[in-house]
Amino acid sequence: MVQMLQEPQNQSTQAAVVLRGVSCYFGAVKAVDGVDLEIFPGEFFSMLGPSGSGKTTCLRLIGGFEQPTSGQIVLFGQDASRLPPYARDVNTVFQDYALFPHMNVRDNVAYALMVRGVPRSERHRRAEEMLELVKLAGLGDRRPGQLSGGQRQRVALARALINRPKLLLLDEPLGALDLKLREEMQIELKALQRQLGITFIYVTHDQGEALSMSDRVAVFNHGKIEQLDTPKALYEYPKTEFVARFVGSANVLEGRLLGLREGKYALRPERISIVVGSHSGANCLCGTLLDIHYLGAQTRYEVQVGSERLTVLTSSEEQGLQIGSPVTLRWESGSLRALQEAP
Ligand code: ATP
Repeated sequence: MVQMLQEPQNQSTQAAVVLRGVSCYFGAVKAVDGVDLEIFPGEFFSMLGPSGSGKTTCLRLIGGFEQPTSGQIVLFGQDASRLPPYARDVNTVFQDYALFPHMNVRDNVAYALMVRGVPRSERHRRAEEMLELVKLAGLGDRRPGQLSGGQRQRVALARALINRPKLLLLDEPLGALDLKLREEMQIELKALQRQLGITFIYVTHDQGEALSMSDRVAVFNHGKIEQLDTPKALYEYPKTEFVARFVGSANVLEGRLLGLREGKYALRPERISIVVGSHSGANCLCGTLLDIHYLGAQTRYEVQVGSERLTVLTSSEEQGLQIGSPVTLRWESGSLRALQEAP
């Protein structure tokens, strides 16, 4: 079994963030409902979940933009539950970037230094350093309106990093970008985080994004964390039906269909092989082929087994399969994951 709370390497003992029994209610809405978690210094930590699952509220609680209804928030060993945002060693990058349109890029980046009264020449020098870091050297004189979406995103990042906060909160920062740029920025963000060693807390509803960048991911559902694990552990060992379905795709089967004890089991589509005809044996099910989707690198098959519809993904197209014909699905013993009820 995978170790569930794997601590990334090179961590000091003091946690960057600790949430203890944190809840945040808006009237009758339990936006965050009894969350416990610990984030390590230097970690790239993601909060993943569908819309309305409470991840943004959780991020805002850490940033000090919301007050917890109950529970405790500790940042770098200090109880921050009632501290205002400016008194926390934390910065935030918002999805809409929140840049000042009338200021040029350099002044946008240097804004926090201006507020602190840092002299102009020093501000400029540090802003230029930051612009270089995010690959925008030479664009300091432009206004935000004269930049592309991806460039504006980098300005927002540079502005949030200029104070070298110990903790950077990112709320769907790539949400406004198209897919290709988004993927490029994911790689850059991860590289930047490694280079700076700052703790990143990243909110997203995109499971691919969370899996590819994060050291660990908390999966939110209805204001609670359903599972907190490394990307690999989440994918390989989902604990609940919700996590199995939300992180990647999964076939969820009843134990009695598999001849196993009561309860639900997850089986990843790529863990199944498909052959023509009805065959019996261990770790297999017979069904009828409903559909074939050629996806380039992979082929997806939809198969009716009793009242269930199962998905199979193979890296090569199987020969001789006909829609409407009997097929047998097989998997290695050990591919099934027993699921628990949601917490
Ligand atoms: P999204 O991805 O859509 O931003 P989310 O997972 O980040 O969703 P939250 O924004 O944290 O979810 O919202 C959790 C719940 O709390 C939702 O039902 C939302 O409507 C509610 N909520 C959030 N902020 C407020 C507020 N200021 N007043 C009332 N309800 C709120």
